[in-house]
Amino acid sequence: MSKNAIITGGTRGLGEAMTLKLGELGYNIAINYTSDRSEALAEALVKRLKDENGVDAIAVKADVSDYASCEKLVKSALDHFGGRLDVLINNAGITNNCNFIDIKPEDYMRVINTNLVSMLHMSHLCLPYLVDHDSCIINTASVGGLVGVINQADYCAAKSGVIGLTRALAMEFAPRKVRVNAIAPGMIMTDMLRGVNQDELNALAATIPMGYIGSPSDIAGCMAYILSAPYLTGQTISPNGGFVMP
Ligand code: NAP
Repeated sequence: MSKNAIITGGTRGLGEAMTLKLGELGYNIAINYTSDRSEALAEALVKRLKDENGVDAIAVKADVSDYASCEKLVKSALDHFGGRLDVLINNAGITNNCNFIDIKPEDYMRVINTNLVSMLHMSHLCLPYLVDHDSCIINTASVGGLVGVINQADYCAAKSGVIGLTRALAMEFAPRKVRVNAIAPGMIMTDMLRGVNQDELNALAATIPMGYIGSPSDIAGCMAYILSAPYLTGQTISPNGGFVMP
């Protein structure tokens, strides 16, 4: 029987690499997008998944910080896939990079809502369809959830929350055959880092024991491992080049 997955933030960066890996693994996939720009990316990805992997895929406009929008995403996916769901990848995220005196409350709430509350919403809506048949939730956390980072108080709070949510849901739903794990990436080259100039990137790379910034495929590989590991739950795996060794 074919398996079905929903991934948030699946059009760009880490999410795009995970979407393509899910396609290679034969999953039917629902992805979201938020803007006209990302709608074009999402539609191109849907076509690529169908052409290259022969899987079914849909793209749905949804802002995951909003419960009603998440409801629309989940309902569209379930209607499309005949009511069966096997995998939820909660990946959408944003940063502010602002000191905690100047930051505006609406900006730190946007980070909390997009990075953490979205995962509560999506898990709440998907769990009724994930229970009792060997399913999996994977949440994208960050090394910022494991250690402090200057100018990232909101992001670190959200990502620590993601790790707490992962453990609690893993505990609650292990008896109902839902595994819940998190990936806490270190520095990975995506749009999130593209604003940083080359000198700063070199300086960042020099702080990583392995000496270079990771690529989205490192995270997609970790996702594939988690999907293939039936005894793994409640864990946070951190592909980070040795940057953080908790
Ligand atoms: P990215 O390239 O900026 O992509 C972010 C994705 O999230 C996009 O697909 C975006 O969709 C989606 N998104 C943002 N806000 C959304 C919202 N309100 N509703 C729905 N989707 C939304 O970032 P990335 O580097 O791949 O990051 C992906 C995840 O990895 C995030 O959770 C991030 O915190 C985490 N992470 C990244 C790094 C890194 O170094 N890159 C390190 C640690 C953790 P649209 O384009 O449609 O807005």
